[in-house]
Amino acid sequence: MSSLIQLNEEALRCAIGKEFTSGIQKLGKPTVEKWVIRPGMEFASPNIWWGDTSKTRYDSYGGGPHEGLDFALAQKVDTRPFQAGLQGLGVSTLLRGRVLWRFDDLVGDTLIVASDYQSQGYRFLVQYSHIDSQAAPVGSAVELGQNLGTIKRSDNLKSVTASHLHVSTAFLNEDLVATPDSSVTFDHWLQWESSGKLHYLDPLSLVAPEVRAAQFIIGSEAKSPIARLVSTGSSRDDRAAIRRVLARAFPGIQSLNAKNAEAAKELTDSDSILVSNNRELWKIEYTGNLQIPSTLELSGYGFKFLVDTISLIEYANANI
Ligand SMILES: [Zn+2]
Repeated sequence: MSSLIQLNEEALRCAIGKEFTSGIQKLGKPTVEKWVIRPGMEFASPNIWWGDTSKTRYDSYGGGPHEGLDFALAQKVDTRPFQAGLQGLGVSTLLRGRVLWRFDDLVGDTLIVASDYQSQGYRFLVQYSHIDSQAAPVGSAVELGQNLGTIKRSDNLKSVTASHLHVSTAFLNEDLVATPDSSVTFDHWLQWESSGKLHYLDPLSLVAPEVRAAQFIIGSEAKSPIARLVSTGSSRDDRAAIRRVLARAFPGIQSLNAKNAEAAKELTDSDSILVSNNRELWKIEYTGNLQIPSTLELSGYGFKFLVDTISLIEYANANI
């Protein structure tokens, strides 16, 4: 089966590569200059929640390696540090087709768009997840670059995941394309994958190499000089709130929290930042390699100021 799919991949690139590349060039415009793909955001990553290597996708929800590519972090037009918080950003189609299904993915909607491309009993599909998809009703035809909706704000208080668009590209057994919308859920996708009826491909493999190089920051260039953000606060809720803010603002950097400063210090290493909060005062400390004042105290500015300060530290260190 995998060799069949590999053969299909070559033919697929010839058939839709140009259009898909053009769709990628339009995505996020005019806001986004380049997409930043950190470990965990790339296709086939075994880990869930970027930067958290303690949990695999299988442990979390029974899934295999990452089924697609996450658009969670960007270098925006006119700004230099990488930025997350992409909720509300418009999501445009990467390939023309027909909206086949819509289902709930716990963050937002997943839309499955069936392309016209078919090969050896399989249909090529594009999946867009974690979006607010009101702009594209099920059954409607969509053109290349057409608006599908926006990236949904991640409101789940238990989740530390930044708002992002997940894109999968896949071949699905043609017989299943006729399945009515109302009966398809996320669980079907897990089942179809494990039973060999659904085959995922790396979306980036369908993008022309020169556009991939121009529009994506991948690998060591995408990595932050900060390895870990460790937070501690006066109450459990405080700690959870800090961790959530840091994890959402800095996807791909491991974020942890600890009961007290002592325990937090044990979690840090030479590339970590320790953030503590006693309700009135933020304190940022580090433990070695990062170029920042030895202690940095910020008073009364809230989370936004904390995030901006860490962004500046991150950017300054990335450019040393
Ligand atoms: Zn994803």
